[in-house]
Amino acid sequence: MLPSYIIVGEGVIKRVGEVISRFEVKGKALVLIGEKVEGIVSDHISISLRERSISFDSVVIKEASSEEIAKAIEVAKEENPKVILGVGGGSVIDVAKLTANEVNANFVSVPTAASHDGIASPVVSIKGSPSKFVKVPSAIVADIDVISKAPHRLIASGCGDIIAKLTAVRDWELAHKLKGEYYGDYAASLARMSALMIVRHAEAIAKGSGSGIRLLVEALISCGVAMCIAGSSRPCSGSEHLFSHALDLVAPKPALHGEQCGVGTIMMSYLHKMKWYFIRKVLKTVGAPTTAKELGVHDYYIVKALTIAHKIRDRYTILGESGLSEDAAERLAKATGVID
Ligand code: ZN
Repeated sequence: MLPSYIIVGEGVIKRVGEVISRFEVKGKALVLIGEKVEGIVSDHISISLRERSISFDSVVIKEASSEEIAKAIEVAKEENPKVILGVGGGSVIDVAKLTANEVNANFVSVPTAASHDGIASPVVSIKGSPSKFVKVPSAIVADIDVISKAPHRLIASGCGDIIAKLTAVRDWELAHKLKGEYYGDYAASLARMSALMIVRHAEAIAKGSGSGIRLLVEALISCGVAMCIAGSSRPCSGSEHLFSHALDLVAPKPALHGEQCGVGTIMMSYLHKMKWYFIRKVLKTVGAPTTAKELGVHDYYIVKALTIAHKIRDRYTILGESGLSEDAAERLAKATGVID
């Protein structure tokens, strides 16, 4: 299954009602909206839904915690909506995706930031646990005006999550060759192409130009489509994601998902004998962190995460079945300049 409607452009948030009316489902909508963006976009959403006579309730979501997820699911079970909109950053979209999956409603993704590929994917990744394949968005409405105004850190993080596909795809190829795992060339190519688009347009994205942000959003959506085609997160999540999930578990104050995946990609590309310094340069160009210091994470946790990453989930990668020893992990992090 793939998203039925994808609308990317300036001012498209005002077309949310129009998109929902195309579903031809009768019933209520539930809007799950992020605390930080409520004051900025809720009027556009309400006006757009009222214009199409769509009745709705809205709930403000603070974060992707188990309490907030339980709250959203409880409201959804009471209200029985036919459509659930996730309006906000990656966490709010994840909560909405899980809720829509739970009550079997259509899920509409309205991202207000481009910080990771969850905005367009069928996968949910709540901090501290590996990603889970749940529900393909029925529609994605990505307003470039709104997304451009999000802090640059989120944009750089989105780039990190996409650059990660360079090693994710290599890990997938490896698992195919060594373990006979299914490998889809089309899905892999789509994920790789998204990463190459970021490489090619890094400067435009760094400037935050409309065309640069549009490209980033389209690349994130393409990654989501790659996962839909593959039927798993394989084309988009390899050893660099395992490192990021491991860091979420061990570090007292982890950084953003895409930021960690970017740093993971530098290290895993070194293991894959790819041009890791070139990947680091692209991350620097877009303003994403490339060292432990820039992530705000102590060197100790980088090494620790590297040694446990292979245990995070049953997914074969360059880390192999036994992972990295502490010595090997330290050597890797030092060789790539992630730690001093
Ligand atoms: Zn990711």
